[in-house]
This record gives sequence, structure tokens and C-alpha cells, in this order.
Amino acid sequence: MADLVEAIELTRYFEMGKNQRVHAVDKVTLSIGEKEIVGLVGESGSGKSTFGKTVVGLHAKTSGTVKYRGEVLPQKYQPADFQRFATKMQMIFQDPYSSLNPRMTVGEIIAEGIRLHPELSAADIKQRVAEWLQRVGLQANHMSRYPHEFSGGQRQRIGIARALILEPEFVVCDEPISALDVSVQAQVINLLGELKDKMGLTLLFIAHDLSMVRYVSDRMAVMYLGSLVEIGKSDEVYFDPKHPYTEVLIGSNPEPDPQLERSRPSTAIQGEIPSPVNVPAGCRFANRCPKVMDRCGIETPELIALKTIDRQVACHLYS
Ligand code: SF4
Repeated sequence: MADLVEAIELTRYFEMGKNQRVHAVDKVTLSIGEKEIVGLVGESGSGKSTFGKTVVGLHAKTSGTVKYRGEVLPQKYQPADFQRFATKMQMIFQDPYSSLNPRMTVGEIIAEGIRLHPELSAADIKQRVAEWLQRVGLQANHMSRYPHEFSGGQRQRIGIARALILEPEFVVCDEPISALDVSVQAQVINLLGELKDKMGLTLLFIAHDLSMVRYVSDRMAVMYLGSLVEIGKSDEVYFDPKHPYTEVLIGSNPEPDPQLERSRPSTAIQGEIPSPVNVPAGCRFANRCPKVMDRCGIETPELIALKTIDRQVACHLYS
């Protein structure tokens, strides 16, 4: 499978003043193959959303590279870059309540991106918006209404239509169901799955819920305090995690899988994730790790490929 998107040592810091900086994303290297779904998991504060936004150009890169079909993307997007790459890369946001402009009609919101195409007439745009409203399970006459007239699930469908009307190849889904009622989460996931298959999309699917990520994604990448700690095939990572953080993250999953309970007792994650302003020396997980060793507080583990299975892990237990 050819790589569609490659992040190479991608780093994004936020300057706080007084020589302080938030290490949101630190040298993350991750490739996503064409038509692949990669799930990105980790606790709040792990840097998942910042990584996704930096990959699609919504944040400038502090350092490192993003390649799209082998082309190195700009370090900081200019307006023309957004226009050029909007048809290739899009993002579906977490919160359908705050990500839709309340003063714009649904039709205006969905049409925002395609208005950049001068060859489309007003009638063409209206027709495309009507088609997309129907593709996401809404009605063409909804285009004249405002976001507050819709439920959370419907608003996320509007967000999906807004992103996909541009027919991108790559979409970052940033916790697209976490703000929705459980009853509509599966509907939105199924809609994304259908559209992914029909359009041949490549997805980076960011989520808290590991069982959901296992269900939707081909590979799973686990992020902790700005760094990747484990990458592998989703089922294999879920049922046979190698990094101690992945293990406790899966063990603390609120809806443990019955197969998981048979194979391993449930565990709870201890302590708090350290501040990304004061990143600890050595392994970033050391203060919470049940398997911590002397060297862990001094030496930073590199992400390495394991010899016996198809897995990359950043932990001194394997180096
Ligand atoms: Fe735990 Fe050490 Fe591995 Fe970090 S490197 S996860 S502290 S065993």
C-alpha cells in the first residue's frame, strides 16, 4: 500500500512566554497508506488533536515534515495553500455545536469550500449542497435552516457534508462522535464507514474509545504526552498490547471487550498525565508506569520495530 500522508518527526510547540512552551507534539513519525484508516488514541492532553490539525495545515509546524503523495507540504499555510490542499485534505471536528457558524444557514456552511471553485454557478452549488444533504441522511430543504434547529447527530452530519463535498482524499476525524449521545454515535460511525468505502477515503480517526477505534481502523497508533508509544494492526494492539501505557489504557476502557476480560484482568490508569510544559526526562510515562525500571527516568526510549511481531513500541522493556 503506497503512503498517502507521511508525518516525519512532526513537532508542534506552543510558546507560552517566560521561556515556557507546550510540547504538544514531539517528533511524531507516522505514515498513512492510501485508503487506510489509522486510529489515533490516547488520553486528553496526549496531543492527538494537535497532531491532526498540524498534519492538515491548521497549525504551522514547529519542525518536521508532512508529505502528501511524496510532496513536502508548506511549514505554514498561506491562504492559497488552504485553497490548494482543501480539496485533498479535510477535517471533521469534535464538537458539532461550536464548529458550525450559528449565523450561517446550513446551505452556506456546506457550500463554503466549493465556493472556491469559480467554474461552479450558484445553481450548481445549490444542487451539490442538496445532493450532499441527502448523502448524509438529511433533506435538501434543510439548506435554508440554521444549525440550532438540528440535533447534535444532525449537526455532525452537516459537518461531514461540509468536509466531504470537496471530495478530499484524506480526512482527519477528530473525535467525531465524542460529543454525541450514545444512541446516535453508531449511526454517525456507520455513515462515515459508508462514505469512506464509496469515496475511497483515507482516514486518521482520532478517538478516546479504544474499542471503537479497533472496530473502525486498520492500524492503531497510541500517543502519550506528545509522543507515539506504540503502532500496530488494530486488533493485535488491542488484544496484545506491548507498551505498558497501551496496556493500562485498554484495561481502563469503560466498555471492556469480553474477549479482553478473559485474557487479562482489568487495570486502572494511575496518576495524572504530566504537564506538556514540563515534560519529564527519560520515558514520559515513567511516573505512572507499573513496570518502571531505573534507566526509565534517564534514557528516552525510541520507537523501534519489534523483531518477532509487526509492531513498533517505544519502551525499554524491548530495547
Ligand atoms: Fe515503563 Fe520504562 Fe517502558 Fe517507560 S520505558 S513504559 S517507564 S518500562
